[in-house]
Parts: sequence; structure tokens; C-alpha cells
Amino acid sequence: MIAAGLDIGGTKIECQVFDAAWTPIARQRCATPDTYPELVSAIADQIAWADAQSGTPLPVGIGAAGVFHPQTDLIIAANLAANNMPMPRDIHAAIGRPISYLNDADAFTMSEAVFGAGCAHRTVAAVILGTGLGGGVCIDKRLAGGPSGLAGEFGHIAAPAHVIANYDLPILPCGCGRDGCFESYLSGPGLQKIAQIIAGLDLTPTNIAQRRTGDMHRVWTAWCAIAAELIQTLTLTIDPDVIVLGGGLSQIDGLANELMHAAQTIQIGTFPHPPVVCAEGGDASGARGAAYAAWQAQTNE
Ligand SMILES: [Zn+2]
Repeated sequence: MIAAGLDIGGTKIECQVFDAAWTPIARQRCATPDTYPELVSAIADQIAWADAQSGTPLPVGIGAAGVFHPQTDLIIAANLAANNMPMPRDIHAAIGRPISYLNDADAFTMSEAVFGAGCAHRTVAAVILGTGLGGGVCIDKRLAGGPSGLAGEFGHIAAPAHVIANYDLPILPCGCGRDGCFESYLSGPGLQKIAQIIAGLDLTPTNIAQRRTGDMHRVWTAWCAIAAELIQTLTLTIDPDVIVLGGGLSQIDGLANELMHAAQTIQIGTFPHPPVVCAEGGDASGARGAAYAAWQAQTNE
């Protein structure tokens, strides 16, 4: 056995142990506790279980919602009992060795870049369209990041005003405290909001997608036009070889092709955008990406 990964969500913690071929050979789930001491202790128990599977302490990676603040060691995660707590440090203290701590978007990016839809490419950008808008960048199988810990937080780049104005949309407030972020429009709740504003209807993202060639056409076109601007922004900043889509909205039939087409209509001259593809990792993604990052940190691969 080579490494263990923990995927910590708002409702469950899943621990997976991987063999040398990166196949999960054992997995265990528990509910996510809602107090901080119980959360740390549940994570320590899972790691002890993983060590027992292999008979030796494994490199451990944790992928969890929220952002790790590198200057203060605190986790900023609204939906975990660890908000504003130094969780990586406390887990280290509880198990007696350091772990690799990634946000779930970075764990997903790593998994797709190494094992999934981005594995044949050098620079992989991931965009996760769900209740929020997460992202990450992997270059040569390594996560890109720096001193702020905010690399890949594409959701909090401002959407271009001309596109918002074209569709008579308001500048929507964002959960990060700023206004007009891509996340406010492109997340599932953002798409629902656009439907409320343009069509006056309360629909789920799935309903909106189903009706996109009918009465939701303008709503859908507005959403795709904003998404195309995000693709343009990624091309202009990191010029990825591929953009991998994840999250609930990526399940919408044909979405990757539609976004690629929308992006083509705004490309600069003949300079192309990268292909947009759907993720391949499925459920295992987060834990495997975190485990790989931990293994990489320990072996300097
Ligand atoms: Zn924001």
C-alpha cells in the first residue's frame, strides 16, 4: 500500500487506502461530526484505520472544503466545524506526523491531472460547477500555488461587466464578500438566479438545462456566455492544455461541447481555446488526489 486519502465533506468522511497502482483497495466512511474536537478525533481514527490496513504509517492526504490560510494555519470553511481552526496542525498533533492538506477543488484537480481526463496533458485547469465554483491548476502533475493559498479560486474573479450588461443582469453579491464574481452567476444557485431574473421562474439547474432549447434559451445563453468569459480568462492567464469540468452541473448532457462552442465565439482572432472535457474520476477523485499529493510530498516525485 502506497498512501491514504481522506475526502471530508459536510456530511461524510471517506477514507481510502491505495495500492501501488493507485487502485483503492480499502475504504471506510463515517458521518462528519459537528463539533471540532470530534471532527479531529474522527479523522485521527480514520488515519489509524488506514495505517492498520497497511501495517505501516502511510502518507496521508486530506481533501476538504474550504481554504487553508498559509500565514495563520487556519482553515476557512463555512460548512465544516473546523472554520477558523488550525486543523492540519491539530491532526498532526493527534497522529504524531504531518499530513498533506488540500482543499477539495485542488484534490479533484490533482486526481484529474494525474489519473483522469487531464492525464495526457501538462497544464490542466479544473473548473468545478456545483453549489459554488471551485477550481485548481496542475502543471506537470504538481498543483500550482503560492503564498496566498488562493491559486485556482477562479470563482472569485469578477465576471466581465459588458456580458452582465448584455443580458440586463444585476451585479450579484457573492459569498466571499465581493460583488459580481463568476461564482455568483455560474454556480448552480447562480444559474437558478439568472432564471429568476430573466424568466421569473424558480427552476432547478437540471430543469433549466432540459428547457434550454425552449423557454430557457435566453437564460441558458446568458449562462454559457458568462462561462465562456471564464474560459477566456483561463486561456489568457495560464493557457491550459485542457479544462476539466467537475461538480453537479458538469453532468448536464453535452455541457463541455456547448461551453467550448460558446468560448469559440469570443476567441481572439484565430487563437484557440483549450478543449473542455468532463472529469473521469467519479467518486474516488477527491481522496485519490489528496493521497497522491501526500505521496508526492513525501517521495519528492
Ligand atoms: Zn466571490
